[in-house]
Amino acid sequence: MANVIGIIGAGTMGSGIAQVAAVAGYGVILYDIEAPALDRSMKQIENNLAKAIEKNKLTAAEKETALAKIKTSVDFSQLKNSTTVIEAAAERLDIKQGIFQRLDDLLPHESIIATNTSSLSVTVLGAATRRPDRVIGIHFFNPAHIMKLVEIIKGIETSQTTISRITSLAKEFGKTPVLASDTPGFIVNRIARPFYGEALRLLGEGVASADEIDRIVKKSGGFKMGPFELMDLIGIDINFSVSKSVYEQFFHEPRYRPHPIQQQMVDANLLGRKTGKGFYEY
Ligand code: NAD
Repeated sequence: MANVIGIIGAGTMGSGIAQVAAVAGYGVILYDIEAPALDRSMKQIENNLAKAIEKNKLTAAEKETALAKIKTSVDFSQLKNSTTVIEAAAERLDIKQGIFQRLDDLLPHESIIATNTSSLSVTVLGAATRRPDRVIGIHFFNPAHIMKLVEIIKGIETSQTTISRITSLAKEFGKTPVLASDTPGFIVNRIARPFYGEALRLLGEGVASADEIDRIVKKSGGFKMGPFELMDLIGIDINFSVSKSVYEQFFHEPRYRPHPIQQQMVDANLLGRKTGKGFYEY
C-alpha cells in the first residue's frame, strides 16, 4: 500500500500539516466537511509554498510536485487507503470521538489514527476505537509548516511500535519530536495556560490594554509574540476550547479557569486572524 497520509480538518492546522506531509513526499488526502475550507486551505498552501520559493527554501518544480500530491475531498470514504490519519478538526471531544469511531471502521487494521488535539485525552480517543494501541497524539504548533516542535502523546494503551512509527514520521516532516504523557494540555499548552489566563485577567481588570501587555512582554520579556497576538493567531475559539478542556480535566483547578472575555469574543465571532478581527484588526 502506498504511503498516504489522511488529514481531517482543513483549517489553520490541517492545512499546515498537509503542506509538510506533501513537501516530505507523501501523498495526502485532505478531508473537511466544508468544501470552502478545502479551497481556502489549498490557496493558503500555495501561498506558503510561493513564499518558500522567495526565500530559496524550495524550487518552483518542488512546489508543483508538492501541490500535485494533495487531493482534497468532502467524502470521508476517500481516507480509506491512508496508512496514517492525522485528525485536526474542532477541539471538541464528541466530534473527535465520532471521527475516531468512523476511522476505526474505515481504515485497514494496521493504520495509525493520530490526533493533533491541543488538550484532549488521547487515551479517551483510543477507547473510542478497537485499536487503542494504534491511536496516538501528534501535536504540531502554529504555523505548522514553520514551527519545529511536535509533541508525541502516548495514550495508556499506545504501543511502542506506534510511538516509533509516528516519531519517524515527524522526523521525516523535518520536525523535532518530544514524547509527552497523556495529561491535560501535555507540556506546552499546560505551561501556556497561565500565560494567556493572567494576560486576560490583567486586561479584564483594566490594568493595561492588550497592546500594552503585548509590547511589554515582547520588549522587556524577550518573547517573540505577546499573549493577545498569539491568541489571535491560534484562534480565540480554539484557545477558549483548550482553556475549558484543561480546566475541566483538572477538576476546576482555579489557576486554569477560563476568562469571560474569551466567551464574549467567541459569542461575537471575534476569533482573531481567521475572521479578520480579534484583539487586533487584520
Ligand atoms: P480551525 O477552526 O482553523 O479548523 C478546523 C477545521 O475542521 C474547519 O475547517 C472545520 O470545517 C473542520 N471540521 C470541523 N468538524 C469536522 C468534522 N467532523 N470532520 C471534518 N472536518 C471538520 O481549527 P485549527 O486551529 O486548525 O485546530 C484544529 C485542531 O488542531 C484542534 O484540535 C486544535 O486544538 C488543534 N491545534 C490548534 C492549534 C492552533 O494554534 N490553532 C495549534 C495546535 C493544535
